[in-house]
Amino acid sequence: MEAMRRKLVWVERPAFLGWGCSECAWVFNPTGPPTGESLAEMQSHFEQKRDREFRSHVCAEHSTTRSKT
Ligand SMILES: [Zn+2]
Repeated sequence: MEAMRRKLVWVERPAFLGWGCSECAWVFNPTGPPTGESLAEMQSHFEQKRDREFRSHVCAEHSTTRSKT
């Protein structure tokens, strides 16, 4: 399936710097402060949350090809 080819990619835009989807306009917006007792733990939590949100987003809902706004 076409939608399964999406990848997590580093996104650099004037208004956003972070992780996003290669196939649509979805980007990861971390909410709240990072949790964890060490930098490594915070990093790990961040990656887990990012990966989970990436897997659960629907590309069709973040389409770049058509904008209705
Ligand atoms: Zn996507």
